[in-house]
Amino acid sequence: MLKNIAKLVVFSLLLWLPHAQAAIAISSARVWPALEYTRLTLESAKPIRYELFSIRNPDRLVIDLKDVETNGPLNELVSKIRSDDPYIKSVRVARFKPGIARLVFDLKSQVKPQLFNLLPVAKYNHRLVLDIYPAIPLDPMMALLQEEPASRTMESAPTISPLSQETDSKKSTIASTPTTPQPIIRSNKSTVRLRPEMSTRPLIIAIDAGHGGEDSGAKGYNDTYEKNVTLAIARKLKELMDETPGMHGVLIREGDYFISLNGRVQKARQVRADLFISIHADAFVKPHARGSSVFALSERGATSASARWLAKKENEADLIGGVNLAVKDPYLARTLLDLSQTATINDSMKLAKHVLGEMGNINTLHGNSVQQAGFAVLKSPDIPSILIETAFISNPSEELRLNDKDYQEKMARAILSGIKSYFAKNPALSKPLLVQNKLTST
Ligand SMILES: [Zn+2]
Repeated sequence: MLKNIAKLVVFSLLLWLPHAQAAIAISSARVWPALEYTRLTLESAKPIRYELFSIRNPDRLVIDLKDVETNGPLNELVSKIRSDDPYIKSVRVARFKPGIARLVFDLKSQVKPQLFNLLPVAKYNHRLVLDIYPAIPLDPMMALLQEEPASRTMESAPTISPLSQETDSKKSTIASTPTTPQPIIRSNKSTVRLRPEMSTRPLIIAIDAGHGGEDSGAKGYNDTYEKNVTLAIARKLKELMDETPGMHGVLIREGDYFISLNGRVQKARQVRADLFISIHADAFVKPHARGSSVFALSERGATSASARWLAKKENEADLIGGVNLAVKDPYLARTLLDLSQTATINDSMKLAKHVLGEMGNINTLHGNSVQQAGFAVLKSPDIPSILIETAFISNPSEELRLNDKDYQEKMARAILSGIKSYFAKNPALSKPLLVQNKLTST
């Protein structure tokens, strides 16, 4: 009888157990601090339900995580907040009440947070992402102006020809304020005239180090991450550009954090870049694949199957890096629908040829001609844009070279030479450094 009662108790317990919500364990917590925004990622086997609220005086963010264990990785978050984090002072983790883990972020300033879930993709499981943006968005143009002392604006730049006479205006002219993209102004007459004072500015080259943050890009046999190599080459390239009279490099990504593909395009447009150079390192399943290649945008489909494959892979960066889909981006839709990019693509092709030629002096070329495919990051309607696959990170000997400081510099010098020879043959159209009230159509 007793035995039967015991059996009944065990049976009832078994019936009851599945109804109890098993707490979700955080398998990894990562923090990506950057001036643009600080991102915090919590990874888990199941999606996490959450609640977010802000408290003022002092500024704090509170996140309640439902049915989440306050286990190791979540607790380790406390020590992962760096003292130089631009927005987070510190974080506290505690069990607020049964079934609720509470994170309290002490902030350094007022912020605009975004909290969202990402579905499993690539190597990642479910991710809960907290993005902390400054309450007042950063203005890349102001940053550029501060970085650029007046003395550096060029008087003797050989490469800019002021647009003092009528020009071929197949190119549409675009005005945008630094923070919000403005409607595209198409010149419905055939000419666009810029005021003469606009010519006294350097050429601005947007240098885009591929990938970053959660999106590490391709990985070499010896664990080299594409995102680190591309940043190293981009930094070198900026340094060399800034030493070049009449030229100024702007890093689209300045550290190890994620920027959406469209965000990269926007930032280049905000600083009125004359060119956009996206730096990557290729990967293939077979380790012998090697060599450099240069790509331009194609609106009509890829020039080869491998170009299409590569563009698809590079375009997946947004999925892996993690874009908050709840934030609608009207700019992107307009760009894709509204513009003929023919003139810009022609310029991009010319630029790509010059750069490819120079790359051929320091590395085998993977393909002897410029290739085209639908790379999302090359979709600036008005900025000639190219994507350079510097070498194959999946090829062990090229991986070694990509990690080598001297080779990175060689690579950067080759890219710069290509850009210079492009401008020597195709003088830049002058763009205003400050946009407001400076653009006049005739
Ligand atoms: Zn890449």
